[in-house]
Amino acid sequence: MRRIYSYGDMRRDLQKLSKRYQGFLKVFWLAKTADGNRIYGIRLGNPSASENVVVQASMHGREWLNTELLICMVKRYCRRYQKAQYHGMRYQELFDQVCFWVLPMVNPDGVAVSQYGVKGLCSVRLQKLVKGLAGKDTKFWKANARGVDLNRNYSTGFGKATAKSRGSALYAGTTPFSERETRALVKLILKIKPQMVVNYHETGHLIYYKEDSRLVQTVHTLTGYRLFKEGEECNGNLGDWLTERGIDWCTIETCTGEAPVSRKQLYAEWKRHRNLFLAIAELWFIS
Ligand SMILES: [Zn+2]
Repeated sequence: MRRIYSYGDMRRDLQKLSKRYQGFLKVFWLAKTADGNRIYGIRLGNPSASENVVVQASMHGREWLNTELLICMVKRYCRRYQKAQYHGMRYQELFDQVCFWVLPMVNPDGVAVSQYGVKGLCSVRLQKLVKGLAGKDTKFWKANARGVDLNRNYSTGFGKATAKSRGSALYAGTTPFSERETRALVKLILKIKPQMVVNYHETGHLIYYKEDSRLVQTVHTLTGYRLFKEGEECNGNLGDWLTERGIDWCTIETCTGEAPVSRKQLYAEWKRHRNLFLAIAELWFIS
């Protein structure tokens, strides 16, 4: 088994998928990062569906196993799209009603640092910056290539309970939305106005949420992960920003141990998550 699943691996998979399943799926990109990588997205299902769900992963560099997890899930929906059923409903029917917008790697620069060290970056300036901040500990890199923790860069509660120095975990950046990755995600959400957003992070087999919902309960039932209700305070993370806008969300912490985790965990996680999109889409059919 190969040790990593990289940005390049993902691009190859996206190319194959977009060729093979043109009618069902569309690959797009939102923006380029500071190091020139594309933030890719997959639109899965009916583009004029009345319901929309955003699913994002690898906002933190070292949590790249979730990228592969989402790609495996998407592949399965594509393969089974025309024939399979879930709880007696055809996949086609479910994806006709609900369109999924999947961002499998929001922070490709951070992933490159975690997987390859500073030589994973093209820009010499960014290489120097990350080297100065991370030293030899690049494997555990969470931030983007500018040293900002993207999950503290949103406006709601910005700057509270965060680290003060660039590169350290939880460093929020100088201003809200200072980072291209954050702006790209927010722009997409404001444009398509999803009813739900699912955030994939690692690790701990936990589901974070602020307000209980059918989404939270569905994810809990499917994965068996423990529920963890967050407090009232905000700290500039995406969930806080979504709550402020009345958008239903939860954050799923997959895998166990410390990220980056071994790819050996992938299969067990895939078994837990493979029906997730179907179970979410089904929510609009059961009342
Ligand atoms: Zn994370």
